[in-house]
Amino acid sequence: MSAIEIDGSQGEGGGQVLRTSLTLSMISGQPFRMANIRARRAKPGLMRQHLVAVQAAARVSDAAVTGAEVGSQALTFVPGPIKSGDYEFAIGTAGSCTLVLQTILPALLHGDAASTVRITGGTHNPMAPPVQFLQRAYCPLMRAMGAEIDIDMLRAGFYPAGGGVVRATVKPCGKLRPLELISRGKYVSGYAERIVAGVSPSVARRELECIGAAMRWDGPQLRECVLPAEQGPGNAVLITLEYEHATEVVVAFSEKKVGAEDVAKAALREARRYVASNAAVGEHLADQIMLPLALAGAGRYSVAKVSQHARTNADIIARFLPVRISFEDGDNCAMCSVAPST
Ligand code: ATP
Repeated sequence: MSAIEIDGSQGEGGGQVLRTSLTLSMISGQPFRMANIRARRAKPGLMRQHLVAVQAAARVSDAAVTGAEVGSQALTFVPGPIKSGDYEFAIGTAGSCTLVLQTILPALLHGDAASTVRITGGTHNPMAPPVQFLQRAYCPLMRAMGAEIDIDMLRAGFYPAGGGVVRATVKPCGKLRPLELISRGKYVSGYAERIVAGVSPSVARRELECIGAAMRWDGPQLRECVLPAEQGPGNAVLITLEYEHATEVVVAFSEKKVGAEDVAKAALREARRYVASNAAVGEHLADQIMLPLALAGAGRYSVAKVSQHARTNADIIARFLPVRISFEDGDNCAMCSVAPST
């Protein structure tokens, strides 16, 4: 079988181009060759997170790989059969555990037995899904498509220290079921939480109070999770909005010289943007749920905003699978549709 040629600089030109190619190469059995890996990023080529994604994909599918080293801007990947098993991977930096997980979980659904995956690295990174996003937003939609995936955070790992541990269990399910997610349904609950480690609790409280005042939340809707100091330093604010058919989780991180109110406002801005749209799915979930939907072969969802990540992902997916992914503007949101390409 000849290799699919992928230009890693296309569209968004980041790590997702690589991760989607790895996942779909494993599942479809089609080899690929990628040039210009992460060419649109300040530090192009494979960083630790991407390298571990390649190594994890190679272990799971017994692949023959060239170019798997930090900084590499070209890669070939020739997959073998998917093997269920108990896997452990260490990123070695605060590189995102959740993005490595998302690379191999869909493939392990095609194994012949249950698998476990344990990854050490970052659990709460800027520009990546926090673990709670996978648990509350991504996994329930996977479940609705027939995939049984459970994710636990055994230890938190914040950028830049890392050291977090995430464990996933996956049961094989064969072909995923199509999903129609047009409306988010009725509001069920909302809450904010602070996850802090090695940070003064008084700073933490201020952020929660700010969110509480803006959302009219109090008591159990404002949750403080103080972790042992050795899991830090880290300080993340999450807002979870649970609806009948979908859940959105937004995150903001406290940084040096950024006041508590500004961190709270950043999270509130994102939460309000989702609430104000008519969409079922938030901007980030939209690019992540597209690949499982394409594996199902059909489906639709409404999305708050079609990001460049989503458009690029659609292009890469269509290189591996016989699907057509289209976007259509709607009433205060857009619709993403996946259909067989025929
Ligand atoms: P790089 O951009 O350095 O290549 P990367 O490998 O992290 O890094 P991207 O291509 O930018 O890759 O993909 C980032 C992924 O993380 C996307 O799927 C995006 O939706 C997701 N993501 C980013 N921020 C969040 C967030 N706050 N919540 C949920 N998901 C997020």
